[in-house]
Amino acid sequence: MDNYMTLKIKAASQNEALARSAVAAFCVSLNPTVDVLSDIKTAVSEAVTNSIVHGYNGQDDGTVEIVAFLEGTTLHIDVKDEGIGIEDIERAKKPFFTTKPDEERSGMGFTVMESFMDELIVENNVPHGVVVKMKKNLGADTTER
Ligand code: ATP
Ligand code: MG
Repeated sequence: MDNYMTLKIKAASQNEALARSAVAAFCVSLNPTVDVLSDIKTAVSEAVTNSIVHGYNGQDDGTVEIVAFLEGTTLHIDVKDEGIGIEDIERAKKPFFTTKPDEERSGMGFTVMESFMDELIVENNVPHGVVVKMKKNLGADTTER
């Protein structure tokens, strides 16, 4: 492992910007394009928002942990909460599936993470909560800006 960071934040929406900016700053050493950086920030936002909104149901009293590490030119990001967990992960990952249709949720968060990152793994955490593991190779495209 070449470099790593861990960030623990209170599960409150005002911390989403902090989480995505911290991960963006972390991977700047690999010289990502503006577009790649923007995709990473969006994916982190979606995962952190899910922990806050669904995992802790907006309760403000939980913690979200964001771990980022580099392995060569591959960026790994894990977003972990200790909230309610997901009953059926395959169903939750489907486009337009949401358990909060009345709160302007479109059910596209996992679909966005999956399309913006190279790999998305969603697991329930033992004993509580969810861990979302994402991977993106930043080796390509570093010269086009
Ligand atoms: P959108 O992201 O478009 O606002 P959404 O959050 O409902 O809507 P997804 O991000 O794709 O859509 O998540 C799908 C569903 O998976 C959620 O509605 C919720 O039921 C469940 N879910 C996602 N993340 C978590 C989590 N960290 N803890 C508990 N449930 C989750
Ligand atoms: Mg979501």
